[in-house]
Amino acid sequence: MKSNHANGSTVIIGGGLAGLVAANELADAGRPVILLEKASRAGGRAQSAVKNGATLNFGGHALYRDGALDRALKRYGIRPSGSSPAASGFAIWRGALAALPGDPLKLAASRLLSWPGKIELARFMTRLRRIDGDAIPRVSLREWAESTIREPMVRHLLYALNRTATYSADIDSQLAGAALRQLRQALTSNVLYVDGGWQSIVDRLRERAVRAGADIRTESPAAAILHESGRIAGVRLADGSRLDAPGVIAAVPPAETLRLLQDAAIPSLRRWRDEALPSTAACLDLALKRLPAGNRHFALGLDQPVYVSNHSRYAKLSDNGTIVVHAMKYTGSGSTDPDADLRQLELTMDLVQPGWRQETAARQFLPHLTVVHDQPHIGRSGPPPGPEVPELAGLYVAGDWAGHREMLADAAAASAQRAAARLVQ
Ligand SMILES: Cc1cc2nc3c(=O)[nH]c(=O)nc-3n(C[C@H](O)[C@H](O)[C@H](O)COP(=O)(O)OP(=O)(O)OC[C@H]3O[C@@H](n4cnc5c(N)ncnc54)[C@H](O)[C@@H]3O)c2cc1C
Repeated sequence: MKSNHANGSTVIIGGGLAGLVAANELADAGRPVILLEKASRAGGRAQSAVKNGATLNFGGHALYRDGALDRALKRYGIRPSGSSPAASGFAIWRGALAALPGDPLKLAASRLLSWPGKIELARFMTRLRRIDGDAIPRVSLREWAESTIREPMVRHLLYALNRTATYSADIDSQLAGAALRQLRQALTSNVLYVDGGWQSIVDRLRERAVRAGADIRTESPAAAILHESGRIAGVRLADGSRLDAPGVIAAVPPAETLRLLQDAAIPSLRRWRDEALPSTAACLDLALKRLPAGNRHFALGLDQPVYVSNHSRYAKLSDNGTIVVHAMKYTGSGSTDPDADLRQLELTMDLVQPGWRQETAARQFLPHLTVVHDQPHIGRSGPPPGPEVPELAGLYVAGDWAGHREMLADAAAASAQRAAARLVQ
C-alpha cells in the first residue's frame, strides 16, 4: 500500500455540508485538513442543478434563520441573499383547495374548521410560540397531540406544519419535544429561500475553506478507515494509497462509516446505524415558463403528505424568467412506489397549477431522496450520536443524523462544529 503522509492532518470523509463546515472550522483553527469527497463536486444533498437556465435544488430547500447552519455561515462572513416566504397559501383537503388559516381573517372565514376548532387553533398557535420542547415528556408527536388537542382538524394542521418544518411524516416515532421546538423555530424566525439555490452556499463554504488552507479533493473516495489498538491510524483511498492521520471526521451516514470500518464491532456506531429513523422524500422539481394560476404560490396537503411551493417568488433562481416550483411528497422512512408518488405529485400540480405541463421548461423527478439519515425519535436507546466514537480514539462523526438538538442541515452544521471543536481540544 502506498503511504502518503498527511503530516498530522485531520482527514474528513465526505464533502457535504457537514464535511465543508468541519473543514472551515479546522482550517480556521490552524489545523491541516484534507477533505475526501467521492463525487466530482462537493455539496452532497445541498447541491443544485442548472436546467434550461433554472437552478433546481435537490428538492425544495429552506435555510432556517438563526439555526446552526445560518449562524455558522454568519460567523464565516457568508450571507446568502434571498427572502422569507409568507405564511399564507392553500390547504389541500379532500381533493380541493381551501385557504390556509394563516392569519386571523382567514381563520375566521375558514371552511376547514368549526368554531371550537378555530378557537383551539388560535390558542394553539399562540402557545406554540412559547412552548418549551424540553419540558415535554418523551412521547411521540401523535401521542402528545392526541392528549393535548381536541379538534381533529387542528391536529391535521399541526401534522402538516410539522412535515414542512421537519420533513418527517413519522409522527408515531418522532419525538414531540424536538418536533415542536423545530416548528417553533420555523414560526418565530422563519426560513430563507436562497438566491442561486443551495449551491451558492456550498460554493462559498468550499471556497472559504480552501482559502483558509483546507485541501479539498473531489473524486477521492475513502475505501477504509484504518485503526490500530483502539486508535485511528488513517484512511485508505480507493486507489489503494494510504493517508496516515491521527484524527478522522466521518461526515458520511452511519452505515457508510461502519462499512469503512469493515463492520468492526463498534457498539455505539452499530447502535446509531440500527436505531436510525431516516426521513425520505419524492421530489418533483420544476421550471415553468409561466405560473398558470398566478396567485397560488404555496399549497400544503392536510390529508396527504404533499406540498407545492413557488421558490422563485422569494429567491432568484433563473436569469430567463422561468419560475422554479418544488412539489414534494414526504415519504417517511418506509419504501414507496416511485410511479405512484410521481402520479400523486403530478395530480397535486394539476390541482394547484392546472395547465403546468404545457408551461414546463425543465423538470427533475428524484423519487427517493434521503432528507436526513436520522432524527430525534422514541426508538433511540441512548444519547444522540457523536461527536466522538467512544471505542476509537481519534474518530469523530458529523452529518444530519448526528444532531443533538438540531435537525436537518442545522444538525449537519452543528455536529461538524462539535466534531471539529473536540478534535482541536
Ligand atoms: C429533498 C430534501 C429537502 C431538504 N430540505 C431541507 C431544508 O429545507 N432545510 C434544511 O435545513 N435541510 C434540508 N434538507 C437536508 C439537507 O440537505 C441535509 O441535511 C444536508 O445537506 C446533509 O449534509 P451532510 O453533509 O450531512 O450529508 P451529505 O450531503 O449526504 O454529504 C455526504 C457526502 O459524503 C460523500 N461520501 C459518501 N461516502 C463517501 C466516501 N466513502 N468517501 C468520500 N466521500 C463520500 C457523498 O458523496 C456526499 O457528498 C433537505 C434534504 C433533502 C434531500
